[in-house]
Amino acid sequence: MSDEERLVAPDERPEDQRDSTIRPLSLDEFIGQSAVKENLGIFVTAARQRGEAMDHTLFYGPPGLGKTTLAQIVSRELGVGFRATSGPVIAKAGDLAALLTNLQERDVLFIDEIHRLSPAVEEILYPAMEDFQLDLIIGEGPAARSVRIDLPPFTLVAATTRAGLITTPLRERFGIPLHMNFYTEEELTEIVRRGARVLDMVMSDDGAREVARRSRGTPRVANRLLRRVRDISGVMGVEVVDAKAADSALLRLDVDARGLDSMDRRYLNCIAENYGGGPVGAETLAAALGNERDVLEEVVEPFLIQQGLVQRTPRGRMLARQGWAYIGLKAPTEIPTQFDMLEPDEDATS
Ligand code: ADP
Repeated sequence: MSDEERLVAPDERPEDQRDSTIRPLSLDEFIGQSAVKENLGIFVTAARQRGEAMDHTLFYGPPGLGKTTLAQIVSRELGVGFRATSGPVIAKAGDLAALLTNLQERDVLFIDEIHRLSPAVEEILYPAMEDFQLDLIIGEGPAARSVRIDLPPFTLVAATTRAGLITTPLRERFGIPLHMNFYTEEELTEIVRRGARVLDMVMSDDGAREVARRSRGTPRVANRLLRRVRDISGVMGVEVVDAKAADSALLRLDVDARGLDSMDRRYLNCIAENYGGGPVGAETLAAALGNERDVLEEVVEPFLIQQGLVQRTPRGRMLARQGWAYIGLKAPTEIPTQFDMLEPDEDATS
């Protein structure tokens, strides 16, 4: 199964774009992430009271948790314009210059996947963020000259799934760094209930909880599963989607009771059977599974680690005791203790 076909993968798919009706539009409507919401609320109010651009804000955390949604909400609550782009799309310094010079005063510029900006573009961004100035080199060779352009004060809202890959000078220019966590089952149940209302679905509370429990802590996955459950239940003639109906639809879709699918099971089994439970480097594991390392690190692993099934150690990935239990195999006796597993640098393994 390729990553594109995985129902529980948290990265965005074309089908998710139909979610625009489900997307919350204000901080009040946005469920969960209470610490992030509270902080944003304070900064938005302060910026509005002073009539100034809000400080530059960096959201970091796994895909599908609402970073883009919050960026849009911020611009709406500030009552300013919103422009969106992403790191890999800005190929040249000139592309970024064009975006910046088109901003209106206090606008929000959203850059997704900011860790993928090229170094040349990043250089342009520093003075733009710090002094609202653009330093451009025009022409080439001896005729080249540099020009300085004043920009309107603006707010850069950036998002990344890989905080460890952001350079220190860039990170330091964000006044408001905000960490997004996986959602709790309660929060996701609330999100599913809200989604069902928007989609005009009749769903019981235990039905919503069943979808929530299998959504890997991720609203994007919750919304996607909800739509599929609606389709299947509709075809089966189910009138009220309860836990039983949701369960049977999700099993049919290969999403088990914990929200894991066959890709996850292949990943866990591979560490257990091919590498005796690890440690095994990310590169080796990716090759063994026929996957890209980036996909493993950004899409597959965060949830398995958060669930305590896998541990990331300086020497590679290891199956945790719970991971052994999940695949129904007996763990070797000497799994290292938590003490040996102190959280290593995010990208230290390979
Ligand atoms: P990210 O930018 O972190 O990848 P998005 O902001 O694109 O995530 O959100 C993914 C999907 O999940 C969107 O369809 C959005 O409507 C939905 N979503 C995210 N957070 C919430 C939330 N707190 N409540 C309801 N829906 C949410």
